[in-house]
Amino acid sequence: MEITLVRDNGRIWSTTHSGFTWHAFRLNEDGQAVALCRKTIRPRGHETGDAWYVNLETTHTYALTVRCERCMAKLDALEAQAQEEPEAPVETQGAAERELEAAPQTPAALMREKLVEHLRETGMVNGADDSDPECLAARKAFESATYVRSGAEQILKITAPRSILRVFSEYAESLLQADNVEPEELEAAEAWLTQVPLH
Ligand SMILES: [Zn+2]
Repeated sequence: MEITLVRDNGRIWSTTHSGFTWHAFRLNEDGQAVALCRKTIRPRGHETGDAWYVNLETTHTYALTVRCERCMAKLDALEAQAQEEPEAPVETQGAAERELEAAPQTPAALMREKLVEHLRETGMVNGADDSDPECLAARKAFESATYVRSGAEQILKITAPRSILRVFSEYAESLLQADNVEPEELEAAEAWLTQVPLH
């Protein structure tokens, strides 16, 4: 897949509504800027309007902010991919999947129904993001999860390696940054992040 970054000369980094994390942005099929790490994360409104993106070096000059490690890794992968034979990335992906399946530790975390409902709307759960090995592993963990009773509530118990549970955390965090989110959805996202912090 051809990936078009927002700007060239390294000017592709922007923060989101939380303001603390720099993500690298690409253009999606509709020409909108979306984060390399997750397609649901978008740049702040004023930065989109002013076309205010910065290069990686500039992000170092802002105190109290961090760069998204997943975007960094994706950029590295893109650069490596550009220098390799076309079939090489497929092999890399297979290796990553095997590694995920062989991960020795399989902790579990509990997800409340409002976050479950939110995730059902995402490409990660409906299979559109299966080309990303971590999304694929997360989808499989989501589908094989079982409900447990907690008081009057049924809660989804998801068992997966920590690195895969963190994929759900990225969606929970983007939910916290979104507009028009119901209080119950926020509570469900926060409850998840308490168990599986993103950083
Ligand atoms: Zn990112």
